[in-house]
Amino acid sequence: MAKITLDNLAHSYLPNPGGEDDYALKELNHDWTDGEAYALLGSSGCGKSTLLNIISGLLTPSQGRILFNDQDVTHAPTAERNIAQVFQFPVVYDTMTVRDNLAFPLRNRGEDPAYIAQRVNKIAAMIGMEAALNRKARGLTADAKQKISLGRGMVREDVNALLFDEPLTVIDPHMKWELRTQLKALHHEFGHTMIYVTHDQTEALTFADKVVVMYDGRVVQIGTPQELFERPAHTFVGYFIGSPGMNLFDAEISGSGAIIAGTQIDLGAGYQPKAGHTQVGVRPEFIQLATNGAGIPARIQRIEDVGRHKIVRLDVAGQQIAAIADEGANIATDTNAITFDPQGINVYADDWRVQPQQEAA
Ligand code: ADP
Ligand code: MG
Repeated sequence: MAKITLDNLAHSYLPNPGGEDDYALKELNHDWTDGEAYALLGSSGCGKSTLLNIISGLLTPSQGRILFNDQDVTHAPTAERNIAQVFQFPVVYDTMTVRDNLAFPLRNRGEDPAYIAQRVNKIAAMIGMEAALNRKARGLTADAKQKISLGRGMVREDVNALLFDEPLTVIDPHMKWELRTQLKALHHEFGHTMIYVTHDQTEALTFADKVVVMYDGRVVQIGTPQELFERPAHTFVGYFIGSPGMNLFDAEISGSGAIIAGTQIDLGAGYQPKAGHTQVGVRPEFIQLATNGAGIPARIQRIEDVGRHKIVRLDVAGQQIAAIADEGANIATDTNAITFDPQGINVYADDWRVQPQQEAA
């Protein structure tokens, strides 16, 4: 197992990159802690696979270094990095049995046959394919083949890291949950460094200790699910994570107050003056409804009952925003204003969070 260090790393697919826009992966410095389970989360095209392939050695970065336990492996071939990688689509040997497919990485390393047999049985149980061990992979469904790919990725206990690139895309929804649970169990048992790429926030938040959020070729935040919820470092994290995502209001900030849609509100903390586009971000969980006009003028557009709670859609100065109310809450149709729970307020300048003055760094 290994700590993985990205030092000044960046990648462009162009031969002569000019500005930042030419980089699929913008400059990045980060240590992936040995033994931690990470999710790499972001929408399609933001650079997740590019980063993963640089770590595994399928791609050589155009700038910077990558180190495993402080050893430079930037130019080391994939085989030398001792990494297991599972891709979005199955990679299996059709003419081999399921058993031989699973045993392959172990036989390749000259492991003891008794150990191989025992390990293959264990992995087959994890992926729910014990009954199919003697079948040829050819003719199996895409779903079953992907389970074999996952199993092959997990079969070795001595890898530096396990990398998963959207591995559950072709798996049916019920099995997805099951396999994710198995991956978590595997992590608890062996403590491998794991990086799990996904564009699905639920997958990321349930799988990982730490979530690395990418946006447009850049890592915008690395944090626990709670940190991403409470203190989104970038507006993208605010609205990409959460259901619905964070509301953003254009605001004039001065000291501990802000003006939103012509109304003065209290931010609950002081802020240094900031240039650029300033906004206040408040998640729907921290918005309260009022009928006495005290707050920012708002009008209810519709109420959605989603089971666990209600989502109230409101119009605030022509902008649609969302508030979350308890399932049993009586929502007054004459609601005419909203207020914010100060705990749930974050301030942004040009999309990056501004730290309030008294908050510890
Ligand atoms: P993700 O995995 O997050 O969907 P990728 O890392 O695959 O994103 O892609 C990031 C960006 O790099 C995208 O704009 C994509 O079009 C571009 N890209 C990916 N692979 C290549 C390649 N082999 N050649 C040129 N551009 C590429
Ligand atoms: Mg990808």
